[in-house]
Amino acid sequence: MSSSAPTLATPEMIARYETVIGLEVHCQLATSTKIFCNCPIEFGSAPNTNVCPVCLGMPGALPVLSRHAVELAIQASLALNCQVRGASIFARKNYFYPDLPKGYQISQYDRPLSEHGWLDVVADGTPKRIGITRVHMEDDAGKSTHDGYRDSDDYTYVDLNRTGAPLIEIVSEPVMRSSEEAFQYLTEMKQILQYVGVSACDMEKGQLRCDANVSVRPRGQQELGTKAELKNLNSFRFVKQAIDYEVARQVALIESGEKIRQETRLYNVDLGETFAMRSKEQAHDYRYFPEPDLLPLKISDEWLSGVRAAMPELPTAKRKRFVEEFGLSEYDAQVLTQTRAMAEFYETVAGASGNPKLAAGWTSVELMSLLKADGKEIDQSPVPAVRLAELVSLIARGELTGKIAKDVLPKMYKTGDSAQAIVEREGLKAISDTGALEKIADEVIANNPKQVEQYRGGKTSVLAFFVGQLMKATRGQADPPTASEILKRKLG
Ligand code: ADP
Ligand code: ZN
Ligand code: MG
Repeated sequence: MSSSAPTLATPEMIARYETVIGLEVHCQLATSTKIFCNCPIEFGSAPNTNVCPVCLGMPGALPVLSRHAVELAIQASLALNCQVRGASIFARKNYFYPDLPKGYQISQYDRPLSEHGWLDVVADGTPKRIGITRVHMEDDAGKSTHDGYRDSDDYTYVDLNRTGAPLIEIVSEPVMRSSEEAFQYLTEMKQILQYVGVSACDMEKGQLRCDANVSVRPRGQQELGTKAELKNLNSFRFVKQAIDYEVARQVALIESGEKIRQETRLYNVDLGETFAMRSKEQAHDYRYFPEPDLLPLKISDEWLSGVRAAMPELPTAKRKRFVEEFGLSEYDAQVLTQTRAMAEFYETVAGASGNPKLAAGWTSVELMSLLKADGKEIDQSPVPAVRLAELVSLIARGELTGKIAKDVLPKMYKTGDSAQAIVEREGLKAISDTGALEKIADEVIANNPKQVEQYRGGKTSVLAFFVGQLMKATRGQADPPTASEILKRKLG
């Protein structure tokens, strides 16, 4: 049953083959209740407390489809450019598992919620459109736990709180050609689902799970190779590692004249290897049939357009708008649209300060570094967007030098005071009065005759020294370009 010794192919061998990857992503929808009953979805509740006859699969209990779950699934479909069917059908997927009390999952089969979508990614600098075959809805199974309890060696425990949690499964076409493309696809997918609010996509809570189907074929061959399905991949980094391992394993087998067996494999994080779980011969025959307790899911044009209208702007559109409307670089636009919270924070700073370009750096660099050091996310920032905007305005109006502002921001962060209050309290206002600056420049020149001689002797680089002295004398409150201009004139 298990594979032969894990001989891996050399890079030269691998280069003669093409990798083919198709991903199946399960995403838990952000509803407060389960898909077919009113049990709450709460992570970390005591085991088997969020259950009722419906999700326990009691005889006679009937499922009632959650409207909110359908709307989130539609939003995910639209965000992934899929066509939503006017009518889709729920189907029973039959199999036995201790954490599946009904004996079947309610899923969708030949008529899924939506189809024919795509997602644009950039991998290794090359843009690529990845086809999405389908998005369908289903209920989640429970959870088997093998540890964390007494006698854990002897027992497996079942927690049915997750049974009936609403999921969508997003199935890609077998069109990815490298682990990096798969990684970028997942990263982009997660960002979009989070943006739209379809799911928090917290992988540690199992809200986003990925199975990777991997095969190889000699370059130039049309026909697809036999695939292995990799399961248990609970981070994108592991997806990448597992695919790379699997490609090297498969190529080695083919090169040594063996055949690839269609099977499900698990990735062992500690060993960095995949190993066989079950082969095709042992694969399930799910005996799908239409769910008799649910009507076809009909989605009218009105409902669809209502759901579409309620969707927020997607990251790609936002990036484009930030470049066009605010004149940001592609890079800044990319950084500032990383999360929806970040983009919304930035837009407030940009709007309220009236200086979007300056606001970009103060948000993505200065504030972010304070947050990072503090282990906080942007939506936990002690400096609210409007306060940061005030600081940016002071800089933009020349009332505060950038240098001093860099000292003011950490004080705002620590005390919660406004920039204005700190500037007034500490007398940090920029010296805009050129008369005052001229006087200080005269003093600086008078106090450093040796350097004056050097400068006049042709060593113009000494100017930086004078600017430094002037900044020191003004405690950083002079505008450096103005200071430099005055000094140059006086020295020349
Ligand atoms: P199954 O019936 O085994 O579940 P599907 O046709 O439903 O297979 O495909 C499941 C996933 O596997 C899809 O994401 C698809 O793109 C991918 N896939 C199918 N064939 C291959 C292959 N030969 N190599 C890699 N991925 C594949
Ligand atoms: Zn229930
Ligand atoms: Mg399948």
